[in-house]
Order: sequence, then structure tokens, then C-alpha cells
Amino acid sequence: MSSDNQFVHNPENILEVSHLKKYFPIKGGFFGGVTGSVKAVDDVSFSIKRGTTMGLVGESGCGKSTTGRTILRLIEKTDGSIYFNGEDVNSWDKKKLRSMRTKMQIVFQDPYSSLSPRLPIGEIIGEAVREHGLVSKAEFNDYVTKVMKDCGLQPYHKDRYPHEFSGGQRQRICIARALALNPEFIVCDEPVSALDVSIQAQIINLLRELQEERGLTYLFISHDLSVVEHISDSVGVMYLGGLVESGTTEEIFKNPLHPYTKALFSAIPMPDPDLKKKRILLEGDIPSPANPPAGCKFHTRCKECMGICKTETPKAKDMGNGHVVRCHLYN
Ligand code: SF4
Repeated sequence: MSSDNQFVHNPENILEVSHLKKYFPIKGGFFGGVTGSVKAVDDVSFSIKRGTTMGLVGESGCGKSTTGRTILRLIEKTDGSIYFNGEDVNSWDKKKLRSMRTKMQIVFQDPYSSLSPRLPIGEIIGEAVREHGLVSKAEFNDYVTKVMKDCGLQPYHKDRYPHEFSGGQRQRICIARALALNPEFIVCDEPVSALDVSIQAQIINLLRELQEERGLTYLFISHDLSVVEHISDSVGVMYLGGLVESGTTEEIFKNPLHPYTKALFSAIPMPDPDLKKKRILLEGDIPSPANPPAGCKFHTRCKECMGICKTETPKAKDMGNGHVVRCHLYN
């Protein structure tokens, strides 16, 4: 992790994101001109060490998925920088971007809508392998079979279609499709949210096994904190387009500092009824990212709000061991 103004390229990191912004224009008025912007991602900085998992958490609409998609250039950034293995992702031309797509993959939340219903599984998994010429014609079949087996699928599944599989198996197919391209980095965008709890554990275990075998790096986007605690080495907490706290998973879960993180974490179900009583209820709605509050964006919902919070944006402060928080309580 790195805090603002301390961004230095570190060869240990596979990904380094600095002051990333993604604004979507709002069009309106008589001539359909731009009347404002939705600040979906607003000045986000973090880095991920090779072979580790960073969990990105926050309420729905906080900008987690937009951050993941902007990193992969599925949508273009408004400002900031993204370095992959020390290379500026936004300096890549179309040809380079296409070849680098094999290295940076994504697994989506809904395994059904992200699979073509008209293609058999073997074709879905092998299509991009063939397009990118990753293996020879002679090796193609064995290669696809091996990837399928690695993801817990059987060779006879090759000729079947997505509708013939359960949700968990479909997600295995999506993971196999990503894995077939031999990536180094995968954005997992709520990959288990649509699955039953028992199946979630199987998919999480599969992701962990594949990470160990292949040295993969994940950006794991989820609103489910229990899942994130289980799979992540580091965690970033997002609120209204900004990263409010980040650090190692152990540090963030044991010692959350930001009032928003505390409230979010207090909602994790606990078996102990006394601990349940300590839940911090967040009042009010999340403000619109088209018109975020001045100063600290969380001030309209924060019980510890002070005068300065309404006018000044808190700076990122490293509290030690890479635990970074943006809150005036600590400045
Ligand atoms: Fe609350 Fe102020 Fe900290 Fe924002 S900066 S989280 S309003 S105390």
C-alpha cells in the first residue's frame, strides 16, 4: 500500500494505481450538452504485491467495480495513473492492449450472463486461446482439457452448453476461461455474490488453490466482508468513489480506524450476542456521486463529524505498517 504523495514504483508490486479518477459525464439541457459529472472513482491510490490478494470493499455504488474496470481499461480513466509490472497501462496502443489482455483478466459476478448461451463450454474456454495463438493446433485440445480439470470441470463437459450447468459450475467455467489465457492478474468482481453459501466456499477455495499453483494476483471486489477477510492479504475500503482506509487484512479487521470502516465492520454477523449490540447503524442515504459533500465525503453520515470535516478533505495518513486512513481524527 502507498499513501498519497509517497507513490514510488516498487518492483515487488504487480499493480500500482495513483490518484485514479473516473468521472462519467451527465448530459442534459436543451442541446444535450454536459451539465455535470458522476465522480465514480475520485482520487484513488493503492498498490498490490505480486502473488497476493487485495480485497476492495464498500457499499453498493461506492466505485469498487468501476475501479476494477478502469484498471483493465474496459473503461478509460479520467485522470491518474495505472502501472502494471512497472508499465503505464494508458500508454499502450490497441495492439499492445490486446496482447496484454491475456495477462489481465476479469471474472464477473453473474456467471450466466457473461457466458454465450450458443457456444459449448470447450469453445467458450478455448476461443481466446486460439485467437491469441497461445498454443499450437496440436496442443489445443489437451490444453483446454487441462485448464478445465484445474478448475474442477470434467473433459466431457466440453460439448455441453452453459444452461446445462449449475451456478457454481458456471463460475468455474468463467474462471477457466480467464485462466486459459495464463494471466498474472485477475479482477474478481463479486465472483461469489450470486452463489449459495456452500458453493461460495468451493469457488473461494478454487481461487486460492489456483493462486498458490500459478502465483496469481487478485483484486477481489466484494461487499461481503467475511469473504474478503478469508481470501485477502490486504484490504481497501471505499466510500463514495474514494479510498478511506487501507492496510493488511489483519490490521484493518483487528483495528479499523475510519468511522465508516468501523460502521461497516460492526455489521458483520457475530455469534456472540453481546458483540452484536455494538453494531453502529449508519444513518441517512449515501450522497449522490454527482454532487458529493464538500470536505470529508462521509461527514453527512458520520457521528464524529467536526467543523473541519465539512470544509477540508482529509489527507491520507500512514498510521504505521502501511495502515493508511483518511480522517481528520488522525491528522
Ligand atoms: Fe468523520 Fe470527520 Fe473523519 Fe470524515 S473526517 S470520517 S466526518 S471524523
